[in-house]
Amino acid sequence: MSINPNQYKLSDRTARLTAQDLLPTTVSAGTETREFLQKVIDILLDYVKAVNDRNEKVLDFHHPEDMKRLLDLEVPDRGVTLQQLIEDCAVTLKYQVKTGHPHFFNQLSCGLDLISMAGEWLTATANTNMFTYEIAPVFILMENVVLTKMREIIGWNGGDSILAPGGSISNLYAFLAARHKMFPNFKEKGSSSLPSQLVMFTSDQSHYSVKSCASVCGLGTDNCVMVPSDDRGKMITKELERLIMERKKMGHIPFFVSATSGTTVLGAFDNLNEIADICQRHNCWMHVDAAWGGGLLLSRKYRYLRMAGVERADSVTWNPHKLMGALLQCSTIHFKEDGLLLSCNQMSAEYLFMTDKQYDIQYDTGDKVIQCGRHNDIFKLWLQWRSKGTEGFEQQQDRLMELAQYQVRRIKEQSDKFHLILEPECVNVSFWYIPKRLRGIPHDRQKEMELGKICPIIKGRMMQKGSLMVGYQPDDRRPNFFRSIISSAAVTEKDVDFMLDEIHRLGDDL
Ligand SMILES: *Cc1c(COP(=O)(O)O)cnc(C)c1O
Repeated sequence: MSINPNQYKLSDRTARLTAQDLLPTTVSAGTETREFLQKVIDILLDYVKAVNDRNEKVLDFHHPEDMKRLLDLEVPDRGVTLQQLIEDCAVTLKYQVKTGHPHFFNQLSCGLDLISMAGEWLTATANTNMFTYEIAPVFILMENVVLTKMREIIGWNGGDSILAPGGSISNLYAFLAARHKMFPNFKEKGSSSLPSQLVMFTSDQSHYSVKSCASVCGLGTDNCVMVPSDDRGKMITKELERLIMERKKMGHIPFFVSATSGTTVLGAFDNLNEIADICQRHNCWMHVDAAWGGGLLLSRKYRYLRMAGVERADSVTWNPHKLMGALLQCSTIHFKEDGLLLSCNQMSAEYLFMTDKQYDIQYDTGDKVIQCGRHNDIFKLWLQWRSKGTEGFEQQQDRLMELAQYQVRRIKEQSDKFHLILEPECVNVSFWYIPKRLRGIPHDRQKEMELGKICPIIKGRMMQKGSLMVGYQPDDRRPNFFRSIISSAAVTEKDVDFMLDEIHRLGDDL
């Protein structure tokens, strides 16, 4: 059922009221407050239903200028009525892209896990800040339990972790801890405490946030060495060692290597054991950016196939809001060594982190981070983990991989119409669609250029029609190609077939 903004009518009396007439300003307005919130919940529940309805469009696309005309975005001088607010809510969801729709294959975070969503609703209502035990006692303890569990799954005993606003910031935390570990005076003395130029290493397929650490932290991006990858997208570890030695000869200090478990475009996994050996030989901190692939740690099958050696890392980024399907945003960074986060980032603000509090202040996590306030990202993950159990998460990961393998098979079975670019290691499937006029012609560079040109046209058509969302991009080796993502628990084999059939319907004539 589509969201129709005119169908949510408050009672005549409540409709005319404004926010001033509800709690907390009008203490006696319990009934009206409940009526208003119930109506908002009706809209949310209708949206959840629409998200899961395959007959619904994934999106109702309009160009920005048209969208501005469809929406009333003005923030007025005088507050609007409650009825208007209800319509505002409904209109907002009417034009929102349904990222939880089974035909949404566009992003690394897809799906709408209902338990996680319920958790986010509760989180919003509790509306607390995560910096001290004092004001978030239950949530802080949940954080402790879940993060300890995640470190155990990585293969560590002890250590420390924190939830950060995104994988990019998680990677930044790893960088900061690595530099602090090697040069503890940096915190007070700054770059004058460094004997020489620091250099970091990551593969040319890594997420751009890794390179961004070099610019944000003063190394300069020229000192983030991009190690070449092989044709499957994995770091060439021999090249890593050669480049480390090259920089050493220049008198630089290689100190940080970021391996990737699940690259953003191809879903490739670096060889962690080989990288760990090199880090050991050259005294480098080993970070694993598993923002994307981290979920596979929950699968006994894929953990050893893809991430053997992860326990040798010094730090690991892992985003539950990607493969595990927790709601945005939910990102974690883990450290093998306890105490580093605190000593690296502690500023001891006296108004917040008094040391003479009457409870165990190790639960005040606020001084471990470079933020002050921290959003509660734990409750939705904790509740979701309770609902599935670790075994449920394992089954979910294995199922997503099974569906990606199904897609690969279907692409190969229709090799006249589709060209698989490589055997995927994750749920990223990279492929071209071959329109009628290009079928039966040998695959060469010229043909690839043609196939690349039609990706944006097909994408434009799917957006206009609203039936499907799949991403495309070029990379260093090839022009535009489609990269679909299956990370939503709503997807079935039928939806995978729909994706391929719909691309065919949209692109056959190109
Ligand atoms: C998504 C991703 C990131 C960034 O995570 P955000 O939560 O979007 O900041 C970092 N690294 C990899 C490999 C990713 O896939």
